[in-house]
Amino acid sequence: MKVCKFGGSSMASGETIKKVAEIIRSDADRKFVVVSAPGKRFKEDIKITDSLLNAYAECKKGKALDKLLAPIFERFVGIATDLGIQDKVDLTSVFKEIEQGIVASPIPDFAAAQGERLSAMLLAAYLGYEFIDAREIIRFADNGVFNAEYTNDLARKRLSDKQAGVVIPGFYGSTSSGQIRTFSRGGSDVTGAIVARAVKAEIYENWTDVNGFLTADPRIVENPKPIPELSYRELRELSYMGANVLHPESIFPVRKANIPINIKNTFDPQNPGTMILPGVLQHDRLITGIAGKKGFVSILIEKSMMNNEIGFTRKLLSVLENLNMSFEHLPSGIDTMTLIIADSEIGNKLQELVGGIREAVSPDRLEIQSDLALIATVGHGMAYKPGTASRLFTALSRVGVNIKMIDQGSSELNIIVAVSGEDYEKAINAIYEEFIN
Ligand code: ADP
Ligand code: ASP
Ligand code: MG
Repeated sequence: MKVCKFGGSSMASGETIKKVAEIIRSDADRKFVVVSAPGKRFKEDIKITDSLLNAYAECKKGKALDKLLAPIFERFVGIATDLGIQDKVDLTSVFKEIEQGIVASPIPDFAAAQGERLSAMLLAAYLGYEFIDAREIIRFADNGVFNAEYTNDLARKRLSDKQAGVVIPGFYGSTSSGQIRTFSRGGSDVTGAIVARAVKAEIYENWTDVNGFLTADPRIVENPKPIPELSYRELRELSYMGANVLHPESIFPVRKANIPINIKNTFDPQNPGTMILPGVLQHDRLITGIAGKKGFVSILIEKSMMNNEIGFTRKLLSVLENLNMSFEHLPSGIDTMTLIIADSEIGNKLQELVGGIREAVSPDRLEIQSDLALIATVGHGMAYKPGTASRLFTALSRVGVNIKMIDQGSSELNIIVAVSGEDYEKAINAIYEEFIN
């Protein structure tokens, strides 16, 4: 039996949902379906989740909610009409309930979740499948932290005896007192993985709008080659480092149960896509893929004899801990240490952070550099192959890109470099040309 998750582009309109239904009906094993909210139908379109979050934010500023919800309502009515199921789902009463819920809600999660809920209701009605609300199977603690093992028990009990088809909304669940909580953006991938583990699926199919996991972001590299097979660990590295075709946390539930993930294209269902499998795959390829993200700051801390100062790193990191901030990398020299931190972690606390560091470790010099990008070149094939790093650095220097930091884990599964944000696209293309093209 298979669990299939359909993303926002697959659920974007009545027309695409008909393709989704065709895929589900073409294989009797596709019994458990997880869906995202309707995404973009064209480049400038707005994802339903973004419209809902905007409605929440504007409502809390005092704007009239019914006006903000009207275009969202219209979009769902349009989908229901295209599918010929306008009499099967009472969208008017569901939207009344959504309006009341948003007004009563102190956090955006309830609003954000409604796109998935409606999307699942409509697909269930169209297919004649049972709708099961994610609140019944996905559990968060009161502080919003996802409770994996409790959820697995809940989901297993609720789903294991299902003979006929079920549609479940992705992206959200609830606390034990019934308050809605969501995963981070793109989190329907995580729901699909949770359901796959709970029902012990033979495979977790993740249906999207590209022919599987590609060797680089198709918005940066023109026509990147697809990756036919990927290991769990390579997936984790690539998705964490910005290949957002799959949420980086979707690996955990399936890894516990050794379930393969197959990334497939709703708009080209015959294409085999990418298989993601446990273990190290034996390939002759050196590099599996490239991923990256922008928006990092580096803080260089220099102090003579730093290496002799017992507890130096602990003192430095306790500043971050006190500010509840996580860091990405911490490369070090004899008298220097560099913290690489995401802008999103720092928020408006840069002054506080720098002040805290000065106080905690009294550096001789402290230098801040903003607008950095990180790029990961990933592949099991790099291990024990001399010369990979030098090829990478040569490729970057050939196009005039200056490397600001290098980090290679001892697993030799990746080499991460930091470059200036303006060099990001150029650097990815240069690495792609060197190793993949
Ligand atoms: P869905 O709505 O189906 O969840 P997403 O938009 O979340 O789809 O993810 C698919 C998109 O991820 C692709 O359209 C592509 O633009 C982007 N993407 C970024 N990096 C990669 C990559 N390495 N391989 C494939 N797609 C990628
Ligand atoms: N709809 C949510 C988002 O846009 C979750 C998802 O698509 O997976 O982030
Ligand atoms: Mg997604």
